[in-house]
Amino acid sequence: MVDYIFYFDIAALFILLITIITHFQHKHLPNMQNRVYLLFLVVAFVATSFDLLTTLMRGYGTSIHRNVYWIAHCFAFTTMNFLPLGYLIYCISLTKVVERTSAKKQIYMWISTIVPYFLQLILIWSTPLVSETKILAFSLDANNIYTRGDFWFYIIYAGTIYYIIYAVTILTIHKKELDRGIYFTVLSYIFMMVISVLLQLFFPNLLLLSFGISLAAIMFSTFIQNPKAYVDNVTELFNQDAFFSYTNGLYRRKQEFLCVSVVLDDTVFLSNNFGIDYLNQFTKAIADAFKNEKDFKNATSFYIRQGQYCLIWKNYGFRDVEKIIFNLRVLFNRTWTPENKRMKLYSSICVIECPQDAENVEALMKMVNLVAEDSKYKQGIVYGRNIDFENKLRSVDIEHSLRNALMENRFEVYYQPIYSTTEEMLIGAEALIRFRNSEQNLISPEEFIPVSERTGDILRIGEFVFDSVCKMLSLIDVEQYGIKKIDINLSVAQCMQDALADKFSSLRTIYGIPASIINLEITETAAAHTPDVLLKNMQKLSAEGMELSLDDYGSGYSNMNYLLTLPFKMVKIDKNIVWSAYGNLRTQTALSATIKMIHELGMTVLAEGVETQEQCEWLSQLGCDYLQGYYFSKPLKKEDFLDMMLKSVEEHSSELESMED
Ligand code: C2E
Ligand code: CA
Ligand code: CA
Repeated sequence: MVDYIFYFDIAALFILLITIITHFQHKHLPNMQNRVYLLFLVVAFVATSFDLLTTLMRGYGTSIHRNVYWIAHCFAFTTMNFLPLGYLIYCISLTKVVERTSAKKQIYMWISTIVPYFLQLILIWSTPLVSETKILAFSLDANNIYTRGDFWFYIIYAGTIYYIIYAVTILTIHKKELDRGIYFTVLSYIFMMVISVLLQLFFPNLLLLSFGISLAAIMFSTFIQNPKAYVDNVTELFNQDAFFSYTNGLYRRKQEFLCVSVVLDDTVFLSNNFGIDYLNQFTKAIADAFKNEKDFKNATSFYIRQGQYCLIWKNYGFRDVEKIIFNLRVLFNRTWTPENKRMKLYSSICVIECPQDAENVEALMKMVNLVAEDSKYKQGIVYGRNIDFENKLRSVDIEHSLRNALMENRFEVYYQPIYSTTEEMLIGAEALIRFRNSEQNLISPEEFIPVSERTGDILRIGEFVFDSVCKMLSLIDVEQYGIKKIDINLSVAQCMQDALADKFSSLRTIYGIPASIINLEITETAAAHTPDVLLKNMQKLSAEGMELSLDDYGSGYSNMNYLLTLPFKMVKIDKNIVWSAYGNLRTQTALSATIKMIHELGMTVLAEGVETQEQCEWLSQLGCDYLQGYYFSKPLKKEDFLDMMLKSVEEHSSELESMED
């Protein structure tokens, strides 16, 4: 009897076990390649265990029941012979042959893959049954000593050779699909097997085969499976490469799936102002929610790039889409508190049904990026089928022309006069930015402000407006022009800046402008974003004497809370509310009650969008303190505005004179 040396088997067991454990410690895409690989590792482990077991049993002769020997050997054969098949399927999944083969050819492929192994199984498991009369794969003598069979044993062996030739053929034909490194690593498995088998031939007491397999497993894990390549470091979600590879697979298999892209708003701003580490804590917190919470666990989630997530559901129905959106809304209603930092986060959500909305990976990626880049989708939900690419191109255009616009003097501040109903004259204006693109076409702020909020240009634009207003005021005698206040709009991004108040007060001091003339307009969106920073800024600014107004009241959020908690002096009723109340009794009642309430809270009211004389009279009767709109004037160039103010002062004084006469 040969003295077997099973240290190699034991080493192989350890190596395989560690490889399996490390496999589970990393995230793996739920695709065929990874599933087959794990199966291969587990079967290799079981096969090695049986190999070891059967070898060890040889010393015990008849003291162990004969059937135990039979079964142990059959299992050893079953698992060992699975490995070449597993290797072949692994090669098939690596080269993605299946996805490129027609359904009919696939049937032949699977038959030629599976059937030989079934024949092997029949041979193996019928061995004990016919052992009284015939020797098939192997035999046990009276002392339960194992000997391999001859003809049928080699037939089983032929199965292994068949699989290896099959695998090499597939690898060679589809060599182009594979990275060179991967190609050679996969082939090295065969090389390893051949060496082990040869060595075993010369030194039959060394059990080397399993050891060879375990070494190959290490190589596969390191060079092919390399899970890190597919995982994002910060969020530990799958990365963009994984997204490509995974969705590509789904498209090729013609699998329908739902891709929901979630984009955090204002990430550029957050990382510019608070640092990337700060932002990372929030993106990680959201990733954790996607990973661990039951509403999202059944999706495969990806982190595409800064602040951009994609979740994929393979089997979904109409109702599921609604539920997913609902769950996302609930998720983003939270206040996020990683490491004691508190913040409300906002997101844009894009729901893409594939392949109906996007027919391939490129189209899908284009759609996903579009929603991330175009701030018109901010805080909203958009469906892939509704996405409009032309608009997107325009926004990219704007983004390009915003660059250098400040240097090239393509910004200008216009002034829209504001009328006081009590003084019955113009008393100032709202400063409104105007921008010309490189072709000198005027672009509406409704279009470029959102783009510049995303790119961060808004901060410099905001400063430019403030600076221009101060400069204009410093060059004239404000009393002569009857200018009592100028309104300046603040964007969300500006309000989030810690240094905002200090910057404005130093600019104002340099120009020598009294604080009381400046009135800053803030929208509810800004108030909702960063209540803490905003409040600090507002307190500093109003302590200095600048006034603050709540802009666009009645549109969007409309949260009474801001009116009560933030130090506003004036409320500007949104023009849409004004228009819809005009001629609608119910809305009119609501508007009139709102005006009363604002007055009772000690604030003044301005109505925007006054376009006709009737509207002007009606709003004055309702008690509005100030009016603004095309009825008085469109936004004007600085010179035209100043002319208009002068005229208004002159008219007013001549009216007073005639009254005195
Ligand atoms: P807003 O603050 O609500 O400004 C009023 C907008 O209504 C202006 O549009 C103005 O031209 C328009 N408007 C005023 N009266 C009437 C009227 O009677 N009828 C109609 N149909 N429209 C009227 P504009 O100038 O296009 O600005 C749009 C928005 O862009 C502003 O809305 C504001 O949110 C933003 N914006 C403008 N300038 C600045 C700026 O310097 N900084 C910031 N952050 N945002 C600005
Ligand atoms: Ca405004
Ligand atoms: Ca407004």
